[in-house]
Amino acid sequence: MPETRDSITDIWGPRTGFEGQEQWPTRVDEHTTEAPDHWVQSACVLCSNGCGVDIGVKDGRIVGVRGRAVDSVNHGRLGPKGLHGWVANNSPDRLTKPLIRRNGQLEEATWEEAMSLIVQKSKDLVAKHTSSSIGFYTSGQLFLEEYYALAIVGKAGLGTPHMDGNTRLCTATAAAALKASFGSDGQPGSYADLDSTEAILHVGHNIASQQTVLWMRILDRLAGPNPPQLVVIDPRRTYTAERATVHLAPRVGTNIPVMNGLLHLIIEAGHLNHAYIEAHTLGFAELKEIVAKWTPDRVERLTGVPADQLRAAAHILGTCKTLVSTVLQGVYQSMQATAAAVQVNNLHLLRGLLGHDGSGIYQMNGQPTAQNTRECGADGDLPGFRNWGNETHIQELADLWNVHPDQIPHWAPPTHAMQIWRYCETGSIKMLWISGTNPLVSLPDLARARKILAKEDLFVIVQDAFLTETTKYADVVLPAAIWGEKTGCFTNVGRTVHISHRAVSPPGEARSDFDIFVDYSRRMDFRDQHGAPLLTSTWQTTEDAFNAWRECTRGRPCDYTGMSYAKLSEGSGIQWPCNEEFPDGKKHLYEDGIFATATDYCETYGEDLETGAPRSKEEYQAINPDGRAFLHGVDYEPPHEEPDEQYPLWLTTGRVVFHFHTRTKTGRSKALQDAAPDSFVQLATEDAARYGISEGDMVEVTSRRGRVLEPARVGGIEPGLVFIPFHYGYWDQADRPRAANELTLTEWDPVSKQPHFKYAAVKLRKVHV
Ligand code: SF4
Repeated sequence: MPETRDSITDIWGPRTGFEGQEQWPTRVDEHTTEAPDHWVQSACVLCSNGCGVDIGVKDGRIVGVRGRAVDSVNHGRLGPKGLHGWVANNSPDRLTKPLIRRNGQLEEATWEEAMSLIVQKSKDLVAKHTSSSIGFYTSGQLFLEEYYALAIVGKAGLGTPHMDGNTRLCTATAAAALKASFGSDGQPGSYADLDSTEAILHVGHNIASQQTVLWMRILDRLAGPNPPQLVVIDPRRTYTAERATVHLAPRVGTNIPVMNGLLHLIIEAGHLNHAYIEAHTLGFAELKEIVAKWTPDRVERLTGVPADQLRAAAHILGTCKTLVSTVLQGVYQSMQATAAAVQVNNLHLLRGLLGHDGSGIYQMNGQPTAQNTRECGADGDLPGFRNWGNETHIQELADLWNVHPDQIPHWAPPTHAMQIWRYCETGSIKMLWISGTNPLVSLPDLARARKILAKEDLFVIVQDAFLTETTKYADVVLPAAIWGEKTGCFTNVGRTVHISHRAVSPPGEARSDFDIFVDYSRRMDFRDQHGAPLLTSTWQTTEDAFNAWRECTRGRPCDYTGMSYAKLSEGSGIQWPCNEEFPDGKKHLYEDGIFATATDYCETYGEDLETGAPRSKEEYQAINPDGRAFLHGVDYEPPHEEPDEQYPLWLTTGRVVFHFHTRTKTGRSKALQDAAPDSFVQLATEDAARYGISEGDMVEVTSRRGRVLEPARVGGIEPGLVFIPFHYGYWDQADRPRAANELTLTEWDPVSKQPHFKYAAVKLRKVHV
C-alpha cells in the first residue's frame, strides 16, 4: 500500500528549505491502495489551491493519486485531503439512479422520467409565473464548462435573473474587494511570489489548515535562507498564528479598526510610494483622513490588540520591500467584509507592492472552482467579468449566443443567493435547482433554511453524488458524476487553469453536470434568434464548450484564447491571461500600474462600501478612474449582534484541516474521518473554569436561532470566544444537533452579500449525558 508519507500525523511533511523564484524543490507525494495500470492527468478539487495530481487507475477504478512534479502550483506535493479524499469516488453509497419523490418518498426513476418532470414543471412555471419563478443555486465545485453551460441556460435560455453559487458564502467578498479596488476580479500575483518575498500577511486566513500545500511552500521559506517575516491577524491561535513573527488577535468583528490602525501607522511613518500613489491611485486624501482617527491606543481599546504589537506589525508591513498578503473568511464572513478586505489592497497600493516578483495579493477562494463560478457568470454576474450596467458588454454576450440583448437579465444587479432564498421563502421563486452543494449544512440559520426547502409550493431539484441533508427535501434528485469521472477545466485562486481528464466511468447511471444542463437545454428546446438550438447545435463535448468559453473571454481580463485542451494537457497548469501576447500565461497583473478601471472595460461601476448602493455609469464616468486603482477609506461599524447578559460569548465558525465543506467527500474517507470524527466546541481555559467544563464534556451552545450539543475542547482560544467547525451535519450522525449553522445569523455584507458566519452571540451550559 504505497504511501510516500503519513499526512495524517505529519500534515505538511518534511521541510525542503529554499529561497528564490520558482526554486521550490520538488517532492512528489503519493498515496495508492494498489499499483495503478496507468495515470491520468488532473488536479485536486478539495480546496482552492488546485494542486496538480495524476489519478491512478486500475481495472477501471481509481486506486490512488500522486502529485504532479511539473505543476507550478504544488511541485508534486499533496496535503491530507488531496491524498485521501479520492476514496469517496468509490464509496458504496454513491447515487446511481435518478430519484423522484412519490407519496412523500424518494423512489428510483429513469432519466427520462426525471428530466421530463423537470421540463414539464419548468414550462408550466414559465407559462404561469414567468422565468423569474425559477432559481439556480450552484457550487464552487463544478467545472468551467459546466458553469458556462448553466450560465447560458439560465441567462439566454430561460432568462432568469436568479442564479448564484454557494460561492456567495465563501468567496463573494474576494471578487467584490478585487472589483472595488482594481475594477475587475482576478488576483494580481502569482504563488511564486512567496518564493522570494520579504514579508507575508495573513488576515483571517488559517492557511495552514485551509491550503496545506501553499503553507508547505511558506514553511519551506521559513526553513530556508532569509526567511520572510510573518504577520497574522486572527482571533484564534491557529497553526498559522503559531508561526507568526507578530500575531494580532483582535476581538471578533473588528477587522476595520485593526487595518485602519496599521494603515495609519504606515502613513504616519511615511512608508509610502508617493510616485505610485500619485500616478496610479485615487482617494488617498480621504483614506488618510479616515485612518488618522485610528491611533494605536484607540485600536487597542476597541480590538484588544496591544498597541506595541500593532506597531510591530506596522513596522514589518511598512518597511518590507516585497509583500504577499492573503485574506479569507475571517474577513469575508465577518462584519464590514468588503470594506476590510480592500484595506489589504490599500496597503499594497500605498506601498506600490504589486505587479512585480515577490509581491502579490490573494483575496483567497475557499472552494476549488469558485473562480470559475465567478468567471462564467454562474454566480449571477456576467461571463468574462462583464459589467451588467454596460450595454456594450450585454451586446457582446448577445452576439456570442445569438440572442436578443433583452433576453439576458441585466436591468438590475444580479440576485444574490441570500435574496434567492428569501424569494423562495416568500413564494415568488417556485422551483430551485441546487447543483453540487449542500445548503442544509452550509447556509446560516439552518432552521429557517429547512423551513424554506420544506415548503409545499417550492419544487426542489438536487444534483449531487450522494444523499445529503439537502436531498431529504428534494422533489427530484439527479445522480452526478464527479471529479475523475468527467473531463473539464478549472481555475485556482492564482488564475492557474488545469485540465482534469476523465479517468474512470461514473457509477451506475450518474451523469456529469455538463450533460445534465445540456440535456435540459435540448429538452426545453431553447433556441437562438435564428431558430438554432441554443447549445446543442455546436456543443457535443466539453472541449466544444471550452472553445466557446475561450471566445467569450477574448479581450477580457480572464483571456483564455491562448489555451486549449491539448496545451493544458502538456504539463503544468497555465495562468490567465493566456493569449497571443502571453502564450504561456502571465505571472502578474497590473505590472504597468494600469488597472481594469476604464469605464468601458471595468467589471462594475462600484458600490458605496458602507451601504452597498450601486454607483451609476454617469457617477463612475464623473470620477474618471481611467486605469487608476481606488483607495477606499471606511470607518468602523459595530457588529449587528454582540454578546450581552443573556448570550455572553462570541461564537465564530471555521474549518479543520482534515475536512472540506460539508464532508460529503472527506467524511467518506476513513483516514480523514478517523482523524476528525466529530464536531466540537473550543473554548478558553478561563471560560471552561467559569462554566465548570472539562475537556470532552458535552456542552449545549445556544444562540437566538438554535442550539447544538458539542463535546468541549479546552484551550487555544481567547477568553470570551468559542469556535465550532462548520463541516458537520447529520447524514452520518443524526443523534444530536451539531451543525454550527444552527446558531449563525441571517445577515450579510452590503457589498458582497456574503453572510456573516464569523460572529453570533451565544451562551453555554454543561449537560450531563
Ligand atoms: S492543498 Fe488543496 S488542492 Fe492541494 S492537495 Fe490539499 S486539498 Fe488538494
